[in-house]
Amino acid sequence: MSIVADAPVHGGPGIPQTRRLVTELSGPRSRALLDRKAAAVSAGVGHTVPVAVTAAGGGVILDADGNSLIDLGSGIAVTTLGNSHPAVVEAVQAQAARFTHTCFMVSPYESYVAVAESLNRLTPGDHAKKSALFNSGAEAVENAVKIARKHTGRSAVVAFDHAYHGRTNLTMALTAKSMPYKSGFGPFAPDIYRVSGSYPFRDGLTGAQAAAQAITTMEKQIGADNLAAVLIEPIQGEGGFIVPADGFLPLVADWCRDHGVVFIADEVQSGFARTGAMFACDLLGVVPDLVTTAKGIAGGMPLAAVTGRADIMDASHTGGLGGTYGGNPLACAAALAALDAYEHDDLLERARHLGDLLQTRLRDLQAHDPRLGDVRGAGAMVAAEFVDPATGDPDPALTSAVAKACVAAGVVVLTCGTYGNVIRFLPPLSIPDDLLHEGLDVLADALSRH
Ligand code: PMP
Repeated sequence: MSIVADAPVHGGPGIPQTRRLVTELSGPRSRALLDRKAAAVSAGVGHTVPVAVTAAGGGVILDADGNSLIDLGSGIAVTTLGNSHPAVVEAVQAQAARFTHTCFMVSPYESYVAVAESLNRLTPGDHAKKSALFNSGAEAVENAVKIARKHTGRSAVVAFDHAYHGRTNLTMALTAKSMPYKSGFGPFAPDIYRVSGSYPFRDGLTGAQAAAQAITTMEKQIGADNLAAVLIEPIQGEGGFIVPADGFLPLVADWCRDHGVVFIADEVQSGFARTGAMFACDLLGVVPDLVTTAKGIAGGMPLAAVTGRADIMDASHTGGLGGTYGGNPLACAAALAALDAYEHDDLLERARHLGDLLQTRLRDLQAHDPRLGDVRGAGAMVAAEFVDPATGDPDPALTSAVAKACVAAGVVVLTCGTYGNVIRFLPPLSIPDDLLHEGLDVLADALSRH
């Protein structure tokens, strides 16, 4: 059976913006694909939503059985502009017809340089900056650490509790959570130190207290002279959409500056309009030395970057940074179209609007349901943390049951959190308001039945 036999040819904003289930999930065509997946694809690669996708756009994902699901995940914070955004599609098609690859390290082309120029301009701070392009968030983080080590001549790196930075060997070491990311995959890269961050809902500390705690650990257990970099997600993503207490990040960044430690902000998930600012650092009042980006950068094409202070970025010898595909011309063409949309289509405002809608609806639910322990986030990066109201302990069972019920009813939501007790909302900014409301109605209904 062909999975895509009578599927629509085009995704993008033109496809009907409705939730519609014509089969149970999974329907027969999806089940056929999932059977093939089980036989052909490594069991290590999981999936959250058991459908065979045939098209997507606006705020919906269509499957091979004719179901239409509301998308509140954006492919893990990637399709911020909406799937198959017309400008991205046009740019990729035009570039594919011109040339698909030369390897920028062999023979350069303009779009790579133009993406670097845009990132240098858009990322926080007005100091002189340079960029280098890569393929994935993990690769960007690895390269930021390489660059910081080369610049400082030091090797230690600090990462935080609840951090997520990727699944390669170095980034597994930087990531906090064992299952599913690290368990059995060691040994891990050395000279990585884990420090407490700021998790206001659970630690009850002010930003100043949390920063003092982190700085004491760094001074006593590592020593600033040994420390190349402090790596932090300004709003932690996989760890639970944790927004640090006010002042935490600026105090840690100041300490880094005073001690010649490179402050790296991992904005792979929080970047590009998602939080209602171009970068979460802009919201939280911090200017990083280096920033890693990926996900939303190129409308769904694989691209990532390290951007930062020109002197730090220039620390590497020529040939020390790069990769065959890094800054691939199709991805760069997509990024130029995407970055143009972020800058000119009022998307920061749109993210703030969707964030207000999400937080208002979730706080209404919270007012009547004490299991909703915390509602937090910035812009269209919002989370609900579920707890046992009697003890405040995380409730991963409820979280997973509610998320599964949402998916079964045709609403794609993702969970996250060290304790698996957070549902995160990452709608594409192209989702119509009424569809987001409908998705939240489904969530409310699922919650009332569990
Ligand atoms: N850093 C952060 C903050 C992330 O959220 C992610 C992905 N979830 C990564 C790094 C790794 O990105 P990738 O999956 O593209 O390697």
